[in-house]
Amino acid sequence: MIPAWVVDKGSQMSCKSDMSMQHACLIVSSKKIISAGVNRHGTNRFAMKNGYAWSLHAEAMAIQKMEESGQHSKAHRYKMYIMRFSKKGELMPSEPCIKCKQLIESSGIRKVIWS
Ligand SMILES: [Zn+2]
Repeated sequence: MIPAWVVDKGSQMSCKSDMSMQHACLIVSSKKIISAGVNRHGTNRFAMKNGYAWSLHAEAMAIQKMEESGQHSKAHRYKMYIMRFSKKGELMPSEPCIKCKQLIESSGIRKVIWS
């Protein structure tokens, strides 16, 4: 179950995605957003290092931001929410891909909930 405020935030953020499938990922501690990401075309060094060929997934962006902001040491306490939205902003089923699952596992985040 994804809390309504997380769905609202993810829905707002997903508009920033330039992909046909819009994903948003939030890393949350209690009610505080630690990091967030949306999927988008193109990669960067972090994405290439982790095997993303032509787009950066929402989960990877959120983990990258978490690490860059130095908050990853508490990752085992965080929850990750992964959501997919239709163009109309409706919540759709999603599941992390194999690369993201590996990245999440190595990030230290233990609780992962997807729509
Ligand atoms: Zn992925």
